[in-house]
Amino acid sequence: MKEEISRPGPGARRGVVVVHGGAGFVPPERRDVHLSGVRVAAAKGREALTDGATSLEAAIVSVAEMEANPIFNAGCGSSLNERGEVELDASVMCGATRLAGAVAAMVPFPSAIRVAEAVMNEGRHVLYAGEGATAFAERSGFERLAPDALTTDRARTRLEAQLAGRVGEAWAGGTVGAVVADAAGHVAAATSTGGTVGKAPGRVGDTPLIGAGTYADDISCAISATGVGEGIMRASLATRIALGASSPKDVEQAADTAMKDFAERFDGSGGVIIVTPHGLVVMKWNTVTMSHAIAREGEDVIGGI
Ligand code: ASP
Repeated sequence: MKEEISRPGPGARRGVVVVHGGAGFVPPERRDVHLSGVRVAAAKGREALTDGATSLEAAIVSVAEMEANPIFNAGCGSSLNERGEVELDASVMCGATRLAGAVAAMVPFPSAIRVAEAVMNEGRHVLYAGEGATAFAERSGFERLAPDALTTDRARTRLEAQLAGRVGEAWAGGTVGAVVADAAGHVAAATSTGGTVGKAPGRVGDTPLIGAGTYADDISCAISATGVGEGIMRASLATRIALGASSPKDVEQAADTAMKDFAERFDGSGGVIIVTPHGLVVMKWNTVTMSHAIAREGEDVIGGI
């Protein structure tokens, strides 16, 4: 298992934005572009935080930035299902209020994470799927796109390779997520994806499921997961970490135990990014790559893959 831990510096608490650009396998020649994509996204979220945004808004800003970047498997550049269609999954959770919103198997809209935010703000339900998600998004004022508006040539090529049995790690990474802690110790999480390449129509992964792909609670931490959703769902990965930590100081140990369990008992493949209200950042993954970046207020952006 690979990991990256980043501790807050001494002195007054400051905000921190952490993002991932998906667990999986990014080939060496594409790593620079992934790295710069996650660095830019983390810096954008931090800019929002410094300008007074909440931790949730900062997380959404980072995720929306990566949805707009065609190199990632979210928004523009999303993976295609076996019929060659885009179906979007996304969720948000606020650690201060424990409110959440999500959409699943939704046809193309410019930003699924903004629709998930609207679901949370409406407050009636937590998760809308399929036609219900489309209807919710349209009545909330979001503009539905043409079916192929988010489809890139690369996504088509990956689908063809997958259908021809030429892709080893089928999901191939690129899902995006962000976790943020602000200077007041409020945490939030946001995750968005096109799902796995060549998935069956209507398949929903872990990303829109609170407690699987996304979770946030100020008494423990905020988490965004990535990897093969079927394993993440069966392991309730985010819940497993958050509830395994009886306080924010236990998060590192809880993440370690949960990720080992995920790999050994659930045959899980993937990774997590975590931030505590105190600004401790923990990332763990068991795939070849998981692009990530950390932007602390007042410090240089750190990135890795
Ligand atoms: N977890 C996502 C899913 O299964 C895929 C990913 O993280 O790359 O839909």
